Amino acid sequence: MSGDTGNRPPTSAKSLDPADWEDFRQHAHRLLDACIDRLSRAADHPWKPVTPEVTRGYRLDVDEPGIGYARLAETLERDVLPYATGNTHPRFFGWVHGTGLAEGLLAEVVAAAMNSNCGGRDHGAVYIEREVIDWCARIFGFPATSSGLLVAGTSQATVIALAAARQRALGAKARTEGLRKLPELVAYTSNSAHSCIAKAMELIGLGTRSLRRIPSGSDGALDMALLAAAVESDRASGATPFCVIGTAGTVDVGTFDDLDALAEFCRQESLWFHVDGAFGAWTVLAGEPWKRLSCGLERADSLAFDFHKWMYVQYECGAVLVRDQRSHRAAFEARPTYLAGQATGLGGGDPWFCDYGIDLSRGFRALKVWAAIRACGTDAFGAAITRNCELAMLMARAVDSATELTLAAPVGLNICCFSAAPASTPAADADKLNADIARQLQLDGRAVFSTTAIAGRTVLRAAITNHRTSEADVQYAIDSVLEARGRLLQKPVAD
Ligand SMILES: *Cc1c(COP(=O)(O)O)cnc(C)c1O
Repeated sequence: MSGDTGNRPPTSAKSLDPADWEDFRQHAHRLLDACIDRLSRAADHPWKPVTPEVTRGYRLDVDEPGIGYARLAETLERDVLPYATGNTHPRFFGWVHGTGLAEGLLAEVVAAAMNSNCGGRDHGAVYIEREVIDWCARIFGFPATSSGLLVAGTSQATVIALAAARQRALGAKARTEGLRKLPELVAYTSNSAHSCIAKAMELIGLGTRSLRRIPSGSDGALDMALLAAAVESDRASGATPFCVIGTAGTVDVGTFDDLDALAEFCRQESLWFHVDGAFGAWTVLAGEPWKRLSCGLERADSLAFDFHKWMYVQYECGAVLVRDQRSHRAAFEARPTYLAGQATGLGGGDPWFCDYGIDLSRGFRALKVWAAIRACGTDAFGAAITRNCELAMLMARAVDSATELTLAAPVGLNICCFSAAPASTPAADADKLNADIARQLQLDGRAVFSTTAIAGRTVLRAAITNHRTSEADVQYAIDSVLEARGRLLQKPVAD
């Protein structure tokens, strides 16, 4: 393996391409092997903190001389690859992070070689994205005439869905009038809805003051009577209710709103029904009793969901589906002359994805999704999702059988929240103990829990969107919590 040509600074070469592609091939193959080693031995690679020496090495100088691809490949393997978030590891339960699939590695390599721009035009990548969207429409029970778009994630999908809803409420004025006087549009969601909904309201110019937070009932679902009262009172005071946002799987504990009831209410009241299904929407693929949670999802006007969480696909990829594709297109369509379509040729391929979202230039996100579904098959995802829910129940049983641990919320999906604090501990100390346990286990590389607040108290939280987790991993993680608890209660760790 001669590193000679690879080491030549590209700035002194005629082209940005390697001078010797055969030499490049050897370095690339070696790096690909390192990536496959990394993924196939994911259990050996928990998160570890990135050292100041390493981050100093990331610094880019204004007059970078260029190290060439051979040294770059070494740097990537030594200084970049080891410092991931750790969500490829079987005992990563923090936040709601997907694990990534072997097929994703293949798809990302191919997508990089193609370097497609999926804003529009007539080429293979847009046909693949259409197939992914069409598959989603069928999986979620949306009509074939629905439109959709792959985006960075549910946050962006929510902006697009609410913009389409605003478009239907206001017509063309939604785009021309900005913050000028228009009917005061009001949206409704539960008080446990994700923060991306408030952000979307801010971004589409309506503001969080036009987002009503409806309290949840004892089952965690948005209270339908309070919703009806809020809509009536807003109408009476001259505001214009336009949208209700239901949640399929809250981020804290994974509860579902009654989507069927919300769909029926929105139909009667002529309101747009949007569902935040970031990860919970995928229960449509799961076995019972989890599958029935998503009942009513198929009646939504729009749905936002992620592939990078509970479909295990590499970051980043989410999607939006919109039942009324005319409102969707009318909210974003923009075709200046330099983007004029053609009947045939590369400028053909209508409809273009750039007319359905914010971005004109778009990468080939669809390939890793398509590759995952094509290679693994739909049923394999359903089985993995079902298994994650079963493992969360197993964790709940392990928590129940440990006298030191207390379940903080019922486990109805893939999320298990519990406290390790002794009953007699003052609130502030109990909160700190749970937070310290989470931090200690992260630093030890034993398991990653995150924390959340339930009834105002900090608790440990495991969200299992991890196809690599085994029953032994769950038991090991709980044993590790008990061990760390014992250690911390003896001698509190200094901050
Ligand atoms: C993660 C999540 C979001 C945000 O999705 P991103 O893909 O991170 O933008 C929204 N809603 C819920 C319920 C989530 O879990």
